[in-house]
Amino acid sequence: MAEKIEIPELPFRAFFTYQEVTDFVSSLASARPDLCRLSTLGKSRADREMHLLTITDYSSGAPEDKPAYLIHGNIHATELSGTHAALYTARQLLSDEECSDLLKNIVFYIVPRLNPDGAEFAVTTSGPVRSRTDRSQPEPNTLYPRDVNGDGLIISMRQEHPDGSFIVDPEDSRLLIRRKADSQGPFYRVLPEGEIHQWDGTDHISIDGRGFDWNRNWSYDWRPEPDQYGAGDFPFSELEMRHIAEFIHSRPNLFGVLGYHTGPAAVLRPPSTGSDDDLDEKDVREMEDLARIGAKYTEFPVIPVVKYHGKRSKDINLRGHFHNFGYHHLGLFVFEFELGIMMNSAGITTEQQFETETEEDREELTRKMMKWWDDQEEREPIYQPWEPFQHPQLGEVEIGGFLRRHTAGPTLPDLKRISEGTYKFTLEHARKHPRVVLEDVQSDAMGGQVFRIRARIANRGEFPTHVSNKGRNLRRLRPVRVEFHPAEGVELLSDQGHYSLGHLSGVTGSRLLEWFVSAPEGKDELCEIRVLGGTGGNVRRSIRAS
Ligand SMILES: [Zn+2]
Repeated sequence: MAEKIEIPELPFRAFFTYQEVTDFVSSLASARPDLCRLSTLGKSRADREMHLLTITDYSSGAPEDKPAYLIHGNIHATELSGTHAALYTARQLLSDEECSDLLKNIVFYIVPRLNPDGAEFAVTTSGPVRSRTDRSQPEPNTLYPRDVNGDGLIISMRQEHPDGSFIVDPEDSRLLIRRKADSQGPFYRVLPEGEIHQWDGTDHISIDGRGFDWNRNWSYDWRPEPDQYGAGDFPFSELEMRHIAEFIHSRPNLFGVLGYHTGPAAVLRPPSTGSDDDLDEKDVREMEDLARIGAKYTEFPVIPVVKYHGKRSKDINLRGHFHNFGYHHLGLFVFEFELGIMMNSAGITTEQQFETETEEDREELTRKMMKWWDDQEEREPIYQPWEPFQHPQLGEVEIGGFLRRHTAGPTLPDLKRISEGTYKFTLEHARKHPRVVLEDVQSDAMGGQVFRIRARIANRGEFPTHVSNKGRNLRRLRPVRVEFHPAEGVELLSDQGHYSLGHLSGVTGSRLLEWFVSAPEGKDELCEIRVLGGTGGNVRRSIRAS
């Protein structure tokens, strides 16, 4: 008997570099080759692999013949917690006895790091980047993030300036707060640590070099800038997004998709523009119910993307966003977990973060977070004291402030607890998969070498094969198709061999089909029935005379 290789634990001690992600996914695949295989979606702009784990019980059939659930993480560079949450699910699926039956029936595709280049920049420097690290059109007088003092980190710079909008917080000298008309100096202007491209020496320094937000580059309702910040040049113009789009569109078996992000903790559901009124009413109810399963396991609030904002702002409309793509283009119930930010770990709820009305309210929350941080025995380095530095362009500045790679997510121990919850949500969501089966298959000799063949094609899973009502008429969600292939020498007597059954409803959806064939004397093998079940998976069965 081959020696069993131990499935590695996922350490929640530090965020992973690209190499560490690579090592971890490779070790999962080598520990359980019967359940987990490693491949790639393609390469990133900087030539890194976009790792794909395909997790299923390979002894019970090929992945492409099973209903599929896709998980992606870390599309946004600093949201490194998403990689860990996705890897946690991958690791649990391999070791959790309770899901061995599920892995016989369905496949999980897991892309832990959709943005390996951006994440590498964030994990190594802590610098600010939304999605793409290079800037395709460097603008004059624009500041680009660089490690100017050579400490390996990209944090913030502050400089005394008569127009500076910040002062040192009298209550917590580590913090900068907004300057008011009656504030006492010194006044600081705050910039990201970096260099100014083709600086003309004036105060007009822009920090708004072109940004890319890949969660605005999906195809549904894509809008160019300035209508939608970060949109890119056209839907799926970004290489990595093209890879995931091609993967998704070549998988008619997908019935569920989940994305991992970090922001104030929430279970997000569609829509990402407009309102619930734009969606099918029953679909809204169903995705609300599904999202509540996520809430049950994480204690996060369920929020439609359009409502994910502070109470003083109007509803947001995110164009080219994953949620509307998933619902309107794929016909699926898609979700994103916002895994939280450091404030959530400090006990400041998403509701409290969104309820702030003024800048002072927000400053108060930051003070609260720092007090909590001071009390922690083991604490992540979220803050770096201000250190003087002679900047090659700006002269005397100080460098320090918050490290985004840590403040952008929950603490790592907290992340472990949250990942346990999101894993349970995934299992419960995934267990509702459509399941197309062949039942009551029989062949009856009618005399004279004529046989009647009957089979019931059923969906015994909870979701219908069109998953959502929206999916009912989408070409992408393939209706159930039955192919009847007579064996060699066997003749089909019925008018019709193949059938398109349309979609099958959940649990009780079925169709009984019947064929007549004539077989040569002594022929045992009559035919093969192949069912292409779309989201419900594919099945095939050989039918014999005896
Ligand atoms: Zn995000």
